[in-house]
Amino acid sequence: MNIILFGPPGAGKGTQAKLLQEEFQIPQLSTGDIFRAAIKNETPLGVKVKSILDAGELVPDQTVVDLVADELKKEKYSGGYILDGFPRTVPQAEAFDRMLENNNASLDAFIELSVPEEELVKRILSRGEGRSDDTEDKVKNRLSVYQNETKPVLNHYQKQDLVKHIDGIGTVEEIFDRIKSELKEIA
Ligand code: ADP
Repeated sequence: MNIILFGPPGAGKGTQAKLLQEEFQIPQLSTGDIFRAAIKNETPLGVKVKSILDAGELVPDQTVVDLVADELKKEKYSGGYILDGFPRTVPQAEAFDRMLENNNASLDAFIELSVPEEELVKRILSRGEGRSDDTEDKVKNRLSVYQNETKPVLNHYQKQDLVKHIDGIGTVEEIFDRIKSELKEIA
């Protein structure tokens, strides 16, 4: 099963991706986690993207697409995967369509977690993960980048009739149950 978890910063993608990973025994691929690990380890990729993440801007499409294409070649993803944080622009979604086509693979579901903006800001500022991009002005910038560049990705997948809307308000378990019941229909 190949799944995309989509939604604004703070919507709970990472939390739900981890639960799905356990439940279905398929690995999560989080581009944000990969970038943060690269920054921490001061790899060439980390050095390249540090100031971009710090500012809450997007890493250039080609960098992200190359990274995901390389990562998905790993054996561990051969039985399926959960994408968290990718694709985040329409060109990334188009590149991902081509990746799937080249591998004779397909996407099973595009899960959109929706959460109102005031709640997102509250959640991010109170989650205390110590992320350098979790300050109020950077969160505002990430939300505006989401509206302008990422939201159009939804329409791309609506055209493919793959979008499942999930209400992202509630407890972690409630939201997880909603996702599972949507996925039951396609399994
Ligand atoms: P959040 O959803 O809370 O913003 P992520 O961990 O998904 O957190 O992303 C953190 C940062 O990593 C983004 O603000 C961006 O700079 C970078 N990033 C992650 N995924 C992508 C992507 N697909 N394209 C461009 N930049 C990305």
